[in-house]
Amino acid sequence: MNDNAKLAELLFPDIQSTPEELEERFPLRTLPQGARVTRFAPSPTGFLHIGGLFAALISKLNAQTTDGVFILRIEDTDKKREITDGVSEIIKGLEAFGIVIDEGVIGFRQEKGSYGPYQQSHRKEIYQTVAKRLVEQGMAYPCFCSEEELNQIRQKQEEQGCDIKGYHGAWAACRDLTFEQQKALIEEGKTYTLRLRSPGKEDGRITFDDLIKGKIEMQENVQDVVLLKTDGIPTYHFAHAVDDHFMRTTHVIRGDEWISSVPLHIQLFKACGYRAPKYAHISPIMKEDNGGKRKLSKRKDPEAAVTYYAEKGYPKESVLEYLLTLANSNFEEWRKANPKEPQSKFPFNLKKMSVSGALFDLAKLRDVSKNVISLFSAEAVYEGTCQWAKTYDKEFYDILSGDPAYSLAILAIDRDTPKPRKDIACFSEVRDYVSYFFEEPQDLTEQMPENISADMAKEILEAYLSAYNPADNKDEWFARIKALCEPLGYTPNVKEYKKNPESYKGHVGDVSSVIRIAVTGRRNTPDLHAVMNILGEEKVRARLTAALEYFSR
Ligand code: GLU
Repeated sequence: MNDNAKLAELLFPDIQSTPEELEERFPLRTLPQGARVTRFAPSPTGFLHIGGLFAALISKLNAQTTDGVFILRIEDTDKKREITDGVSEIIKGLEAFGIVIDEGVIGFRQEKGSYGPYQQSHRKEIYQTVAKRLVEQGMAYPCFCSEEELNQIRQKQEEQGCDIKGYHGAWAACRDLTFEQQKALIEEGKTYTLRLRSPGKEDGRITFDDLIKGKIEMQENVQDVVLLKTDGIPTYHFAHAVDDHFMRTTHVIRGDEWISSVPLHIQLFKACGYRAPKYAHISPIMKEDNGGKRKLSKRKDPEAAVTYYAEKGYPKESVLEYLLTLANSNFEEWRKANPKEPQSKFPFNLKKMSVSGALFDLAKLRDVSKNVISLFSAEAVYEGTCQWAKTYDKEFYDILSGDPAYSLAILAIDRDTPKPRKDIACFSEVRDYVSYFFEEPQDLTEQMPENISADMAKEILEAYLSAYNPADNKDEWFARIKALCEPLGYTPNVKEYKKNPESYKGHVGDVSSVIRIAVTGRRNTPDLHAVMNILGEEKVRARLTAALEYFSR
């Protein structure tokens, strides 16, 4: 046995498995040609950032559009960042937006897929199997330096003005310890980390093709980075290489804050004898702020947390639709040409992603969402609103679900037409949108256009109360309103009014405004004929009468 083999045995006496066995346990996948295996690999910090959701969506789309596999892996090797239940927050978050995973963690101690475990804290033996082989090959070594000693090294490097600081080359004090020295220190009970013996050179360069950002050239890694911490748990970097190799990931898609780690990651793949995956680094979602641009921030922007969208009641389809507009600039054009196609049909392309970072715009999200909701069926709006209200507005939930037929009829007005109305951006707005169906109108004067006095309103209401016939169809209903005009001094013809405004008190629009305000308390509503039908004769008469009294005061 040579010294490296002896050292490997000394460091990992309990590890019996070999990397070859792992290769067999996690065989190459048999997938159609061109299929991509992608993963979303968050730490369980309990906070799903909209940027995380965006990255997950992009990874998912890449797998989906190529008949590949999308994995959820939980990267929980850094216990400091973990919070209780952080994992279920992430799973819930993805589920809420309909991002279905093919493999990975699906709940507490629950996984699906045969390339697991998918939670890093359950993969210790796998990492140590690979680490043991690296030690046997002389590619990794134990480092006994204390925090203090590491600080001293750094301080000296500062004093000497070294370009490249850190634990590397001649600075790496434990790099060249003999086996006897290592053995003695271990037997003494000294704690140690396991470090990579980096083959990188200070003047070495590395280039790689990023699928979003293009060709990137960087200084190669020279650091003898820590692979296993003192407790034998891997660092993120080492775990990433091992996991993405054995999960057979083909495309690593993640935030561009990881670009600076790519030289190290590629070196790690090589050191382990693995083929590196393809990389695609997503620019962060930006926000306009004081004329400048900055990253959407967890601290400053409520909309950075995906829970924001659930609280406001944005349907998942809207958020995804909006994220797609941020992802590919040609999405909107595609949507215009294919208004009813499911999002999954969009030919997503990584190469069309913004290199500088897409700009997040709530107003745009609202527009997109209004459009999405306008195409929903009344049942879908009802279900979505009830689901939202159950958690966030119990009183409204009781109102809505108290009479489903009435609620559904209200939500069906002006839907399923070639030009559906686009009034609702999120379910939390439905209550206000439909409130006049459940509450009597107030403050009528406030709504009344300035050109209509209380006396004019009174006259119109009086006339309409005797003309109103609940059996009218829409045409008859409107004809009746028009017929009121001339006797009251209004014209049924708007064009005519524009020509000779001085000859009339107003036009048919003013007459119907008065009726609308009396019945609903609003100047603007969906189809008033439908509204009145749903309210029913009794309520309509009562409201017209109440309004008449109101304007007679
Ligand atoms: N666990 C890393 C994170 O929290 C994942 C980075 C990667 O996708 O490789 O962002």
